[in-house]
Amino acid sequence: MKRFYIYTWGCQMNEHKSEGMAGVLARAGYLPADDPAHADVVLFNTCMVREKPVEKVYSEAGVIALLKEKNPDLVLGVGGCVAQALKEKLFRKSPAIDFVFGSSNIAEIPRLIEQARQRRALGKPGWVMAVDKIPDTIEELPFLRASRFQAKVTIAEGCSNFCSFCIVPYTTGLLRSRLPGEILSEVSELAAQGYKEVQLLGQNVDSYGKDLNDPRITFAKLLRALTEIPIPRIRFTSSHPQDITDEVIELLGEENNICEHLHMAVQSGSDKVLAEMRRGYTKEHFLKLVEALRERNVNVTTDIIVGFPTETEEDFQETVDLVQQARFGGAFIFKYSPRPKTVAFYKYRDVIPEEEKQRRLEILLTLQKQITDEENRKRVGQTVEVLVEGPARQKGLLMGKTRDNRTVVFEGSLELIGELVMVHITEGSVAGLVGELVSDTLTLVPSSLGGRGEIKG
Ligand code: SAM
Ligand code: SF4
Repeated sequence: MKRFYIYTWGCQMNEHKSEGMAGVLARAGYLPADDPAHADVVLFNTCMVREKPVEKVYSEAGVIALLKEKNPDLVLGVGGCVAQALKEKLFRKSPAIDFVFGSSNIAEIPRLIEQARQRRALGKPGWVMAVDKIPDTIEELPFLRASRFQAKVTIAEGCSNFCSFCIVPYTTGLLRSRLPGEILSEVSELAAQGYKEVQLLGQNVDSYGKDLNDPRITFAKLLRALTEIPIPRIRFTSSHPQDITDEVIELLGEENNICEHLHMAVQSGSDKVLAEMRRGYTKEHFLKLVEALRERNVNVTTDIIVGFPTETEEDFQETVDLVQQARFGGAFIFKYSPRPKTVAFYKYRDVIPEEEKQRRLEILLTLQKQITDEENRKRVGQTVEVLVEGPARQKGLLMGKTRDNRTVVFEGSLELIGELVMVHITEGSVAGLVGELVSDTLTLVPSSLGGRGEIKG
């Protein structure tokens, strides 16, 4: 039996695409390998959002080149955004690469592997490529899901927002939404298979349906329909402050299966920088959204970019102030990385020195850690529903997530992995929550039927 190994860089959408690649290879008779050294085919599913993951592609290709010296039959394929953008240039950058496939050419992978092998047998480089124009459809794939209780479901691909710093619309194409009926069928099937949690994916879920030219199709209506499906937890990512509607915020506050967590990138606290980023909202609007969400006990997490070319110290202080006011449950903080093709790339030079970007990043990280720590401490004494995801790093303990996406570590049997349990929180810190199991499973408390799983009193 031939075996495959997939490296994934980037967001959850890429993780889900890798499940599609795994499904395509499984359908062609391949088995997963636990290590690239034991694989006959290695795939790179790449990300181009920042420069760092692009550099990683070349350094990892060097590692695979060493493996090829031991196993000359090993085939390396590169897909994802870097492949979509750089195409045949990749062969010159790293001769260890045998084939390159575009973001909508995943079903062709087995054919590309065979072609690369045939070329090699003829003594030529394996180089073959299938990259279409920028994707404008959603490829149907036989997903081989990494988990038996948590499933990712794409609701839309691409993005039509064109934020000035972001390469995503240029590599993944414009927004294209799946039809609601298809999404409802997929989630119903997952519920029937016993999945406990579904995560809906889109670059900007709140813009779902805008390309379908039917005012009856909106993200709020899709979510409302999904509350009728008996699956305990529904999550989604990412939300966009410009497009999120009151209807979605209301749904997050109701007793239903939609989890009380929202990942909504703010990027900056300065109105001037937000306008130059073309984000379409102000600091005041964002803080109003956070206020409305907090009233509904929703844990808001975010993304922030420091060192955007026009960001002055005053602008940066506006971001510090926003973080202090918003009290995010968590934040991903990135240093601005100029991306080819974007408006910011052509309009501004990357003038903020690396050390200054690093200084701003560390200030925000320290502040956010303090807030996360304080917010987690507030959970001590509560009894909450936890989906057990697996063993914790600490030996003998389990790790799971609350509905509002906080990590909980507690003692329990490995048989509980994949189950919903109730945990009494005894400690909270920047690392997450620690608790004690109060009930083994929640089979008698179906949160899918409305309960949030909290035991009151
Ligand atoms: N669509 C999501 C949104 O707008 O909320 C974001 C998707 S993007 C793949 C994830 C994050 O990467 C962004 O929220 C942003 O903070 C960061 N990012 C995107 N382009 C970047 C760049 N050029 N430099 C640094 N960070 C960047
Ligand atoms: Fe990129 Fe903006 Fe689209 Fe997010 S909304 S993917 S940051 S262009």
